[in-house]
Amino acid sequence: MTPKPKLGQNFLRDEPAIQRIIAALGDLSTRTVVEIGPGRGAITEGIVAQARKVVLIELDRELAWNLQERFSPEKGVHHVSVTRQDVLQFDFAAAATEALSETDQKLLVVGNLPYYITSPILLHLAAHSASIDRAVLMVQREVADRVTAQPGTRDYGLLSVTLQLYGRTESLFTLPPEAFNPPPEVHSTVFRWTFAPRFAELGVTEAPFLTFLKQAFAQKRKTLSNNLRAARITPAQIVQAFETTGISPMARAETLSLNQFAALWRALQAS
Ligand code: SAM
Repeated sequence: MTPKPKLGQNFLRDEPAIQRIIAALGDLSTRTVVEIGPGRGAITEGIVAQARKVVLIELDRELAWNLQERFSPEKGVHHVSVTRQDVLQFDFAAAATEALSETDQKLLVVGNLPYYITSPILLHLAAHSASIDRAVLMVQREVADRVTAQPGTRDYGLLSVTLQLYGRTESLFTLPPEAFNPPPEVHSTVFRWTFAPRFAELGVTEAPFLTFLKQAFAQKRKTLSNNLRAARITPAQIVQAFETTGISPMARAETLSLNQFAALWRALQAS
C-alpha cells in the first residue's frame, strides 16, 4: 500500500523511539490505551503486548482492515478493538466510562499524529480532559515548542495557554525526518501531556474563560487591553481590571501567565 500524504501518513521506523514513546506512557498493565492513527502498527505492537485493553482509531479503510485482521480473536488477541473513524468524531468520554467502570482508571492516549489536523486533535483531547489521565503524542517540532512554551518566550501563545490550562506539558525528544517513511519535511517532537484541569484552582469557568483567552490573543501586534477593547469590553472595565490585578495596561498577551489571565478574568467578572 502506498502511503497517502493527504492522511498525514509518515510511518515511524525508529525502534528506540517507539520504545521511548511506550515507556513514556508508564505502566500499562491495568490500563485502557487509545491509539490515534495506528497506521501500520509501529507503536501498536508494543502497546498491545503490555496494555489491558487497546482501542485503535484509524481513518484509512485499508489500514484499519489490516489492523483488524492482525489483532483479532482468530489470532488469539482478545483485548484490542479497531474503530475505522475520524478521531475528531471519537467519543473519548464513552471509552473512559467503560475503562472507569472496569478498572477505576481513566484513559491513556498515544499517537504519532496526522500533522494536517494536529490542533483540532489537541483541542478535541482538551475537550475530553475529564476522560484522560495522560497522552504521549508525536507532533511537528514547532507545535511541541508552542504547547510547552512559557510566558514571554517566542513560541508562547493561545495554544500554549489552552493546553497548559488542561494539564502539564513536557517535551520528551525530537526526531529527524529520516526516522519516518516517507520522511516528512519537518522535524518531529514527542511530548507528554499530563491532564489536570486547572479551572477550579484558578477560579474560572471553562467556556467563558476559553473565549476570553481567544479574545486576549486575537491580534499579536496589539496590546492585551486593545484586544479586549476590540472584544467590546468597556474601557472603564478594562482600566479597573488592570488596576486591580497590577498588570501593566501596555502588556501583551504573550507575556502573561495563566495565573495572571485568570486574575484579570476574575476582575472583569467582578466589575
Ligand atoms: N502510528 C503510525 C506510525 O507511527 O507509524 C502511523 C502514524 S501516521 C503519522 C498518522 C496516521 O493517522 C495514519 O495511519 C493515518 O491514516 C491516520 N489518520 C489520518 N487522519 C486521521 C483521522 N482523522 N482519524 C484517525 N486517523 C487518521
